[in-house]
Amino acid sequence: MREAFKEALSRFAAGVTVVSARLGQEERGMTATAFMSLSLEPPLVALGIHEKAKLWPVLEAARAFSVSLLREGQEAVSQHFAGRPQEGVALEEGRVPGALAVLRCRLEAVYPGGDHRLVVGRVERVELGEPGLPLVYFGRGYRRVVWPS
Ligand SMILES: Cc1cc2nc3c(=O)[nH]c(=O)nc-3n(C[C@H](O)[C@H](O)[C@H](O)COP(=O)(O)OP(=O)(O)OC[C@H]3O[C@@H](n4cnc5c(N)ncnc54)[C@H](O)[C@@H]3O)c2cc1C
Repeated sequence: MREAFKEALSRFAAGVTVVSARLGQEERGMTATAFMSLSLEPPLVALGIHEKAKLWPVLEAARAFSVSLLREGQEAVSQHFAGRPQEGVALEEGRVPGALAVLRCRLEAVYPGGDHRLVVGRVERVELGEPGLPLVYFGRGYRRVVWPS
């Protein structure tokens, strides 16, 4: 069951995000694909965050977080914030520079979700970057969207 579950979910294509939060001098970022748009009125998004993620206590205490939607070519950024440090990757102004878009959220609600927490954020501000194509995770690897001509 466990292997079939993982295999099935590897067949689900997801955009890649970096979730970030700051509390005083401590700022943390984490790569996440368990992200979804939840509601338009009010504007809500939802995220699955592992209960042991170092991001979690910072986000919970800060009651606020940002979600940077990664663009194609930002594989190194995703790897960095997934625990495989890369040269020259850093947050700027609490978000990933060059992201397709950034959602600035207030923590709205948290629900149990097995070994993860289902985190709901109310979007208070949207920052749009240059339009472009997303970084996609599918079949245990990074993929690119091919835009039909
Ligand atoms: C494609 C993909 C999708 C994933 N989706 C999810 C998901 O939806 N939910 C989930 O819970 N996990 C997900 N993960 C796993 C998650 O990204 C890793 O387990 C991650 O390492 C957990 O981060 P952490 O908060 O525990 O802290 P760490 O592992 O310590 O932090 C992650 C990395 O970010 C760096 N970092 C942290 N803060 C900063 C900062 N302020 N400036 C510069 N670098 C910093 C750290 O040095 C470290 O290399 C995913 C991983 C991948 C590859």
